[in-house]
Amino acid sequence: KDLLVDVDNLKAYYVTRLYGINRIVKAVDNVSFEIYKNEILGIAGESGCGKSTLLKVLLRIIKPPLFVYDGSVNYFLQDKEYINIISLGEEEIKSLRWKLMSYIPQGSMNVLNPVRKIKNTFRDFIKEHFKEEFEEVNINKLIKEHLESLGLPSEVLDLYPHQLSGGMKQRVTIALSTLFKPKIIFADEPTTALDVIVQRGVLQLLKKIQREEKNTIVIVSHDMGIHAYVSQRIAIMYAGKIIEIADKREIYTNPLHPYTKYLINSLPRIGDKSYKASIPGTPPSLANPPMGCRFHERCPEAQNVCREQEPLLEDVGNNHKVACHFVKGGKL
Ligand code: SF4
Ligand code: MG
Repeated sequence: KDLLVDVDNLKAYYVTRLYGINRIVKAVDNVSFEIYKNEILGIAGESGCGKSTLLKVLLRIIKPPLFVYDGSVNYFLQDKEYINIISLGEEEIKSLRWKLMSYIPQGSMNVLNPVRKIKNTFRDFIKEHFKEEFEEVNINKLIKEHLESLGLPSEVLDLYPHQLSGGMKQRVTIALSTLFKPKIIFADEPTTALDVIVQRGVLQLLKKIQREEKNTIVIVSHDMGIHAYVSQRIAIMYAGKIIEIADKREIYTNPLHPYTKYLINSLPRIGDKSYKASIPGTPPSLANPPMGCRFHERCPEAQNVCREQEPLLEDVGNNHKVACHFVKGGKL
């Protein structure tokens, strides 16, 4: 497997000051993992566990009160050449965004201008980001060919967003995000607002893009049903940390972390958001996370050591890593 992004000891905190007191929310706390070329990596976990913050840092969308305190995010371009995007300037990042890395937001509202026809939103987008690179005459052709390559009807170009269904709006958003053939696409809960059948179609489009472009997609979702359908490898986040990562098959047939077991055992049908009810308790506050294993307050297997020492993410073989004191060699 070819490495595309190497994340090392990443710490990204929100720091706010209230009445002279700093409040620090450790949304991403010492996270290390790899993203490979030509894969769909899923990032799973309940809301508030740091998934979206991690995505922001990987995209280098870092604005106060979010700060990166430590660690690196190395993107490998050619051969062994890599850049740590954390240390890049704003201009350098701009030149990489949409081409090296791209982003599909949760709803299409932020990207599709309600008072512009779709074709004008595309034109605005191209002119805003790449005005030197495209001749006026080629822009329409570029847009039309791209939509066709994704199997979308080019008639949508003459419509306004409100004339499109939710699923079509999200497909158009995906088309916009993939216009410049990015090597890696980050999608944050890309189908959350859609109903179950429409979700399938949108996820199918993402799979088709990945298959044809052989690029990388990182999909963040709290829904294990979505990961079962679309992800090839899955990282489970809990309270700002990755607590388990493995190939999809491993995660679903041999989950080792007690939290992952909860998620798998309570796996709902695609689109059903009710599994949370079956996990006792709620995730800890990231402003004041518990000592030791951050899951210990909810873990049925917790021992004294869990309250005192933090378990590290360790390799158990078979491309499988787990952070739990009682998992060694793949057996709890
Ligand atoms: Fe549970 Fe302890 Fe493992 Fe944490 S380290 S998941 S508390 S058994
Ligand atoms: Mg690493």
